Amino acid sequence: MSKPTLYIVIPCYNEQAVLPLTAPMFLEKLTALIDAGRIAEDSRILFVNDGSKDDTWNIIKELAARDAHYTGIAQSRNRGHQNAVLAGLMEAREKCDVTISIDCDGQDDIDAMDAMLDAYADGCEIVYGVRSKRDTDTFFKRATAEGYYRLLNRMGVEVVFNHADYRLVSARALKEFANFREVNLFLRGMFPLVGFKSTSVYYERKERLAGESHYPLSKMLLLAFDGITSLSIKPIRLITAFGLIVMALSFIGILWAIIMSIAGRTVSGWTSLTCLICFFGGTTLSAIGVVGEYVGKAYIEAKARPRYIISERTEEQEEK
Ligand code: UDP
Ligand code: MG
Repeated sequence: MSKPTLYIVIPCYNEQAVLPLTAPMFLEKLTALIDAGRIAEDSRILFVNDGSKDDTWNIIKELAARDAHYTGIAQSRNRGHQNAVLAGLMEAREKCDVTISIDCDGQDDIDAMDAMLDAYADGCEIVYGVRSKRDTDTFFKRATAEGYYRLLNRMGVEVVFNHADYRLVSARALKEFANFREVNLFLRGMFPLVGFKSTSVYYERKERLAGESHYPLSKMLLLAFDGITSLSIKPIRLITAFGLIVMALSFIGILWAIIMSIAGRTVSGWTSLTCLICFFGGTTLSAIGVVGEYVGKAYIEAKARPRYIISERTEEQEEK
């Protein structure tokens, strides 16, 4: 196999404090990989400016002017981390053989790239960077994050435990990934759906080198909610199930009301009222659940995801 062209895709939002520190580290890594003969000379570091309000874009332009290994694209406005990564991957996919996406704050260990490239040479199309420990996180963040991964798995969403957005994806996997047309992005839950041979590489996550995190609790909750609703319709099923249970209970309630009435222990009108409330409570809930089921189906359909992906053919097909 000839040397692959690697694009390191790095989303940046208001990172003027950290970019001048980490950009040379990325370049050093890239040149080391080139010198070691592991990747092609035309490999690049691709910065995606996600509508920063500070000096980030100017810094990126200066870097690109200084060294040909740096390139950058800018989004028209801030669209969030996930969309920035996607934009970078889509930009890179035609120009390279393999991409690695990583945050620009130096938290993720760049030396894990060697192991990722090893796995790629081994035939893996997707390699997940997985945090081996969560020492640098607060107890709160660690507990919520791990609880969340468990919840996702229970909802039927396949995610790699403790994997964020540090991952290697081949151009081949990206070509198929481009067919996932959804607007609600939760990349770490979507890449497992692409399939192909994949594996995980473990690394220790450090503190941010400079600047501040852009994921306050509110954004984290939004991403978490998107993760569930864009990949699972289980919550709707739960409503349907709950409605059915309430319906069953209301049946018991109706029996009880009738018995009380026969026993003459009630004021007049109470029985009929109680029956109606029980009945409508149960039926309304389950009816909403059923409607929700169809809304959920329509939602999944509206995404128009590919129904199958061919990973191999006995005969080579001509590329268009
Ligand atoms: N980021 C982005 N757009 C945003 C928010 C963040 O491109 O709207 C980038 C940011 O520059 C960084 C990465 O996404 O490279 C992860 O953000 P951050 O380090 O703030 O998150 P944390 O590591 O604290 O979860
Ligand atoms: Mg970070």
